[in-house]
Amino acid sequence: MVDYLIIGAGYAGSVLAERLASEAGKKVLIVDKRPHIGGNAYDHYNDAGILVHKYGPHIFHTNSREVFDYLSRFTKWRAYEHRVLASVDGQLLPIPINLDTVNRLYGLNLTSFQLEDFFASVAEPREPIRTSEDVIISRVGRELYEKFFRNYTRKQWDLDPSELDATVTSRVPIRTNRDDRYFTDTYQAMPLHGYTRMFEKMLDHPNIKILLNTDYREIERIVPYKEMIYTGPVDEFFECRFGKLPYRSLEFHHETLDKPVYQPAPVVNYPNEHAYTRITEFKYLTGQEHTKTSIVKEYSRAEGDPYYPVPRPENMELYKKYQELAKQTTGVHFVGRLATYKYYNQDQVVAQALTLYAKLAGATRTKLK
Ligand code: FAD
Ligand code: UDP
Repeated sequence: MVDYLIIGAGYAGSVLAERLASEAGKKVLIVDKRPHIGGNAYDHYNDAGILVHKYGPHIFHTNSREVFDYLSRFTKWRAYEHRVLASVDGQLLPIPINLDTVNRLYGLNLTSFQLEDFFASVAEPREPIRTSEDVIISRVGRELYEKFFRNYTRKQWDLDPSELDATVTSRVPIRTNRDDRYFTDTYQAMPLHGYTRMFEKMLDHPNIKILLNTDYREIERIVPYKEMIYTGPVDEFFECRFGKLPYRSLEFHHETLDKPVYQPAPVVNYPNEHAYTRITEFKYLTGQEHTKTSIVKEYSRAEGDPYYPVPRPENMELYKKYQELAKQTTGVHFVGRLATYKYYNQDQVVAQALTLYAKLAGATRTKLK
């Protein structure tokens, strides 16, 4: 009998497996239907020997010292600050929009103060800020919104920004200085030997058994366990009884090119051209040196593996029904991006998993008393 059957070997499942096994002495079986651990953060060396992220670019950043210290037990780090360019009007311009973006786009020489005035002159006040359109138009006006955000968002979500919660485009700040980093978090780094190596170390414990290539529904009834931790899509767990919860999917087209460098930045976004949203060149992220280079193009899809919850009011309403059902399901704990239907970054999932662990450990101690 295992203490915990954990569904999913991504961040949520792996952090809980590690904590429960090595801190609480529990016996854990972690099951994933994919042929590997790491969930969407999985990386591997491709045929050319280049380290690539199978499910699109994963850049680690966090303001949480607790999360960074926790993961540092399993990996060394390579300092890395992410930068992105957007292809707009025939130029490659910094995104997040900053002073250089506007000056280069319009051939101007504004100062930060002048840019603040410019934004104020074109911004359209919106109150309250409810949608992803409101966020951008109320800050930089319609023209920059249309050049950088409108079409990228439609391509990525198949929805107009006016149909998506403010939280989606709020992920990308607007700046009046020259800072061209994508993130400003305190800790920004990539696992020195890749994500998969970090997960291998996390799960390397005699109390943890790993079963890959297995949907948990195949073994659930034949493996005795005390409690379950579920990190897959919450609607699937309940056989979509209230209807399918929308998750956005992606198709990743990986290519290896016979030249050392492909593009001038780690990621180039294509808001207005091409069917794909962005191209990532992995060697920038990993620091690897190689005579060839590998890139990935992302094509957004309605069907396929679930990658993104779709933040909009009607989906939140539907999720709440599943959340209520999840609360009533004793002996099963729901955690992670798919199981709690939250557009979480890696660090937020680690934090959520550590919080659940603290709760479970607290509960275990109470039971033991
Ligand atoms: P997942 O990694 O999805 O793990 C869930 C696991 O459950 C999967 O491996 C799945 O196979 C398994 N599973 C599901 N159903 C079953 C079943 N029935 N039986 C068995 N196994 C099952 N975050 C960042 O911090 N920085 C980034 O730059 C970044 N970029 C991203 C880019 C893309 C394209 C995507 C999609 C996400 C990105 N993220 C990024 C977010 C990051 O991937 C997630 O926060 C994190 O991986 C979520 O971990 P998780 O454990 O909740 O879910
Ligand atoms: N976005 C955009 N243009 C860009 C970059 C982002 O319109 O050049 C919008 C788009 O809606 C996207 C969201 O902002 O889905 C969040 O961007 P982020 O880069 O955080 O997306 P992720 O890396 O999670 O796919």
